Amino acid sequence: MFRRVAIIGGGAAAATLLGELLERQPAQPLHLDWYTGAAGMPARGVAYGTPSDRHLLNVRAASMSMFAGKPRGFLDFVQRDDPAIAGTDFLPRRRYGDYLESEVARALKQGKSLGHDVNIIPVAIDALVPENDGITLIHGDESHHADAAVLALGALPPPPLGGVSDAALDSGRYVVDPWPLLAGAIDISPPPRKVVLIGLGLTAVDVVLELAAQWPQTEFIAVSRHGLLPEAHLHKAAAPTDDSAELIAAMREAPEIHRWLHLLREACAQETDWRPVIDSLRPHTAGLWHELPLEQRARFMRHARWAWERARHRMPPQVREAIAALERSGQLQRQCGRVRSVHLVDETLQLTLDHAGETRTLNADLVIQTVGLDTDVRRTRHRLVRQLQTNAHITADPLGLGAQADGAGRLRHGGGSWPHLFAIGSLLRGRLWESTAMPEIRQQARNLADHLLGD
Ligand SMILES: Cc1cc2nc3c(=O)[nH]c(=O)nc-3n(C[C@H](O)[C@H](O)[C@H](O)COP(=O)(O)OP(=O)(O)OC[C@H]3O[C@@H](n4cnc5c(N)ncnc54)[C@H](O)[C@@H]3O)c2cc1C
Repeated sequence: MFRRVAIIGGGAAAATLLGELLERQPAQPLHLDWYTGAAGMPARGVAYGTPSDRHLLNVRAASMSMFAGKPRGFLDFVQRDDPAIAGTDFLPRRRYGDYLESEVARALKQGKSLGHDVNIIPVAIDALVPENDGITLIHGDESHHADAAVLALGALPPPPLGGVSDAALDSGRYVVDPWPLLAGAIDISPPPRKVVLIGLGLTAVDVVLELAAQWPQTEFIAVSRHGLLPEAHLHKAAAPTDDSAELIAAMREAPEIHRWLHLLREACAQETDWRPVIDSLRPHTAGLWHELPLEQRARFMRHARWAWERARHRMPPQVREAIAALERSGQLQRQCGRVRSVHLVDETLQLTLDHAGETRTLNADLVIQTVGLDTDVRRTRHRLVRQLQTNAHITADPLGLGAQADGAGRLRHGGGSWPHLFAIGSLLRGRLWESTAMPEIRQQARNLADHLLGD
């Protein structure tokens, strides 16, 4: 058992691990240091820090519990205020933030009653040094010791896309990270006439819904290679297919992406709706991914990832309807194209796009990068991750999916796995592939708590 544990990160993953640890009654009380970062409200993170009711969970309420052992957790929380809420509803993410905060408060109280000692420290850790008898954590001029540390850092700060000129970046008209803009931390006034979004996933959907309401006269153009929106959930929930054993066995027998796609297409064709087939893979995704040889994972990333993410990370039906209304009104257009460059020309941003062998340009007053989460530790400007990478304390996943780890979430370095340095959430995508949403994170938190408190 590790007695003094440091959790680094102020989001839902850190909060869930904290909750799991403080529920337990180990042989000796724990000393927990929770470093929540310099900004934002602990527990909510980017995803659940949004105050906007336009931003909905993309997972139904019944599946959003923080705790693997209390599957109704979130649903019970919201039904206390409104018994009419159903488990199949897609609720505002703001409500989920309320739930996270209330669970953290409850866990802290319970932890105290069990004799655990918890410090919440609102600073970002700059550097970590793994040593034989534990880990030294450094922020500013201060250093602290822990027996074990857990990185719960979420996604890394997004870097600008290649091809964006320095002048475009310096102009303030190219937004690399949309969340501070949505939170009102970046002032854009007067409202732009024309906005181009690069990327068309769930982030783009959130951004358009919010900004189209704030700037009703603005025209939005969303560009992506295929010009397709994420798929949508159906209003009515369907349970995942329960006879997926044959499909999974066939996938295991042939760990090749083109074969898997073929098997999936066949399985979907046999159902009235494809969604339950995709959902039935969820508990098996980490195992399947782990068995896939590296060159096949690379193939997936090049050719199939975009289609998988469209099908797997779906938008709630009411969000799809709101986006469709914006398209009907002409306020939102979608275009196909790969963005090659963005330059500042006079007072306008000029994008050069390639599509179907042709090159064209598009002008915008504001460009927002909405390409989804970044987990590439090899090129990040995240200070702590850069330090860990520079000092070879972690090993990058070769496909840019976080850091290498073993099955217990222990981070790997050149010579093996650290016994006392762990990660949870997005940094483990290389190991697990699906490692960013609450259903996966809560299971990781539970396993990690068992591990940290085990003999
Ligand atoms: C917009 C959006 C919507 C989403 N919607 C859903 C959904 O509906 N359902 C679902 O299951 N999942 C959803 N997700 C996935 C989501 O990533 C997870 O549910 C969860 O929020 C991840 O939490 P996290 O703690 O891993 O990361 P984050 O919430 O990003 O938290 C990481 C925290 O670490 C802090 N940090 C970073 N570096 C340091 C440091 N050096 N020292 C200290 N602290 C540091 C950051 O400041 C931040 O507070 C969504 C994600 C996004 C971005």
